[in-house]
Amino acid sequence: MAGAPRDRSGAALLSVVIPCFDEEPVLRETHRRVTAVLESAPTPLDFEIIYVDDGSRDETRSILREIQRADAHVRILSLSRNFGQHVAVTAGLHHAKGDAVVIMDADLQDPPDVILIMLDRWRQGVDVAYGARTQRTGESVFKRWSARLFTRCLARTAEVPIPLDAGDFRLMDRLAVNAFLAMPERDRFIRGMVAWTGFRQEPVHFERPARAAGETKYGLGKMMRGGVDGFVSFSFAPLRLALWTGVFGAAVTLLGVGSVAAVRVLDGAWPGAWTIVCIAVALFGSAQLMILGIFGEYLGRVYNEVKRRPLYVVKDRLGFEPASAGEAGD
Ligand code: UDP
Ligand code: MG
Repeated sequence: MAGAPRDRSGAALLSVVIPCFDEEPVLRETHRRVTAVLESAPTPLDFEIIYVDDGSRDETRSILREIQRADAHVRILSLSRNFGQHVAVTAGLHHAKGDAVVIMDADLQDPPDVILIMLDRWRQGVDVAYGARTQRTGESVFKRWSARLFTRCLARTAEVPIPLDAGDFRLMDRLAVNAFLAMPERDRFIRGMVAWTGFRQEPVHFERPARAAGETKYGLGKMMRGGVDGFVSFSFAPLRLALWTGVFGAAVTLLGVGSVAAVRVLDGAWPGAWTIVCIAVALFGSAQLMILGIFGEYLGRVYNEVKRRPLYVVKDRLGFEPASAGEAGD
């Protein structure tokens, strides 16, 4: 898998992977801007743009076909249904041929000109140049703060250092891409997985603008799901929380037993039996439910892994060389 160190100063192929789910209002503009940036790259650069249609229900597919007919740099990978952004990105990475690969959103929230800065870093020897947001505009206060809280908690408890305030916008060297693709897990929390691969990783700071058009695909439910995924895949802190909650419950109960005994000895009286029973039942009941819930999160993921289903199903590929069209799923 790992090869000899390559010279990065000469001609290189850059792949840009863009997951698209119902992005019809913005795609033409995105393509125009990304292409303009890549064509203006200073050193000789060949590029391919891989759009992964993640089961869109709108006109995304036909717009992509139209773009692909007019531009030989474009490849389209259509998945058979909506598999989610992280799986769509993984599918795109499987098909990318580049010496370096950029992952970016379709909605222009990841500014295309930042690609050139990332490319420059890569030429200088950085293996993963990840976009770190200095400011986020056009997103709700709730989204900004929940994202902040989430990344900070995760950074504190995760088994590998996960960059703060970074999304998935990044450039990865081929070696990092190969290491990422060698990770077989179903839950694909890209930020964490790329951090796990190691290599030389550095931030590239940028201001994150609002979506150019269309709506966010992450409502509250989907956002929370993603948050739990990130935590459970990269941190054992919730399981430890279960243990500590248990220890805390046991301590409180012992204290309760001690105080009942003390009241009995000093005062000769029993506190109301109902009070004691209710407190004990509520305490243990809630602690057990919580611990079971946390176990469930991990167990569900273990179940998901042992099923060993393919990660995604490809409906069709357009613009790829015939040789790359062999693999189905992962
Ligand atoms: N996306 C996807 N599959 C999904 C949800 C989103 O491929 O199930 C893509 C979407 O088209 C966009 C990127 O993932 O290119 C980020 O989505 P979005 O902009 O809605 O997320 P936000 O920026 O609001 O976090
Ligand atoms: Mg967005």
